Amino acid sequence: MVALKEVHKSFGEIEVLKGVNLSISKGEVVVIIGSSGSGKSTLLRCINRLETFNAGSIQYNQQNILHSEAARREIGMVFQQFHLFPHKTVLDNIMLAPIQVLKKSKEEAQVEAKALLEKVGLAEKANVFPSKLSGGQKQRVAIARALAMKPQVMLFDEPTSALDPELVGEVLRVMKRLAEEGMTMLIVTHEMGFAREVADRVVFVDKGVIVEEGPPEEFFKYPKTKRLKLFLRRMV
Ligand code: ADP
Ligand code: MG
Repeated sequence: MVALKEVHKSFGEIEVLKGVNLSISKGEVVVIIGSSGSGKSTLLRCINRLETFNAGSIQYNQQNILHSEAARREIGMVFQQFHLFPHKTVLDNIMLAPIQVLKKSKEEAQVEAKALLEKVGLAEKANVFPSKLSGGQKQRVAIARALAMKPQVMLFDEPTSALDPELVGEVLRVMKRLAEEGMTMLIVTHEMGFAREVADRVVFVDKGVIVEEGPPEEFFKYPKTKRLKLFLRRMV
């Protein structure tokens, strides 16, 4: 569904992605782990066209993402810092893109937004402003908002890293349920328990390249490279 081939990305003199090859199949949940600064966010941002890249290709359903309207519409993203519109209610945050981009009627958008809020366990928060929500609630709204565009692929960039520890679980539960429903997901996270439990495949990025990848059982139990062994040792 998504295929990166030899993707290179530099910021000025600094090469951040040094030839990334990665494929994600429909329904697959892929978790990316790696140290800060290794290029994980840049990788997601290239897939979502928030960054350009210098060489290589990214395809979405066999089409170059740079020329694919479907890629633009059908790849959703959730960020570490929620990025909700502060001056809009929770419901309006979710309804905005379906109305403006998908040209839905207000009524239809509202019905769907309410259903999505229900799904993330926040039905009673429809009419409040984001400032009244906890971080975990904000992130669940952000997920609902992304889902309102009916994405075929969801990218998550450290969705729980900005949260107090006691709020992490509620967000991970929503993500787990999405995974169980068959959503195709690419997730950058430091939540190793979640990776073990939910990922079909775990990918270790270090200094702009994929160093190692595999199914979680194998990946965590029998890391092959020195770099991954070292990283996992530091994580515990
Ligand atoms: P990660 O998400 O793994 O922590 P990033 O993809 O955010 O890593 O960043 C990788 C490297 O690219 C870092 O050295 C970072 O400073 C650099 N970088 C990221 N975005 C920019 C940018 N817009 N301009 C310049 N350098 C950037
Ligand atoms: Mg990052």
